[in-house]
Amino acid sequence: MSKILNVGQLGKTYTSGSKKLTVLDAISFEIEAGETFAIVGPSGSGKTTLLGLCAGLDEPNEGFVELSGKDLSDLNEDERALLRNKEVGFIFQNFQLLPTLTALENVIVPLELQGQKNAKKVGIELLGKVGLKDRLHHYPSQLSGGEQQRVALARAFSTRPSILFADEPTGNLDEETGQKVVELLFDLNKEAGTTLVIVTHDLELAQKTQRILKLKGGRIVANETVSI
Ligand code: ADP
Repeated sequence: MSKILNVGQLGKTYTSGSKKLTVLDAISFEIEAGETFAIVGPSGSGKTTLLGLCAGLDEPNEGFVELSGKDLSDLNEDERALLRNKEVGFIFQNFQLLPTLTALENVIVPLELQGQKNAKKVGIELLGKVGLKDRLHHYPSQLSGGEQQRVALARAFSTRPSILFADEPTGNLDEETGQKVVELLFDLNKEAGTTLVIVTHDLELAQKTQRILKLKGGRIVANETVSI
């Protein structure tokens, strides 16, 4: 097994006026390629911030993040964006689909950024896989929450990332739709070996992963292997 993510002594603070808020403090952990990993903890414990730092969407004040063996702080913004586009998929809490683009257009944005010629074909295939082949030309406002989340999943997976970060992927969905999205995520892990890093409030979902990292007040309180 090889390490896909290595996080060391990570710290993040926000300053507002004279106040300094420490959001993450001395966070260290590793994730093996192909692993399924959950990050849990109370609201405000730093989960979303940690996910953003790991995916290179934000920069820490202290410590390091190594993604696929590359220290993100050694890369400039363009190099980070390239690495993200090549290796990382991200599913945001509120889907973050582009409202002026159709489902298919949303899915193929990352592929077009990569200059892939068969983007449309891949996009249609992926939307079929998540059960949306009859919604290709719908705009996000014409889709239900579950459908939007499945478009977001297809988009995140379009470049076949080695690691997929998902922030509360079931948070805004009813139970049945949430279960479908979870199944799709774990299918990707099984079929393509995609590493999954899932922030969730849902302990049942967390228990489906191989390892659970618990955060409280910006610190790690547990890093446990899930027993089957
Ligand atoms: P969680 O995902 O566990 O709910 P977050 O990572 O969203 O936690 O937030 C952790 C803490 O950091 C919260 O207290 C939040 O208010 C604060 N925070 C997050 N982003 C910012 C920001 N851009 N500026 C100031 N404070 C922030």
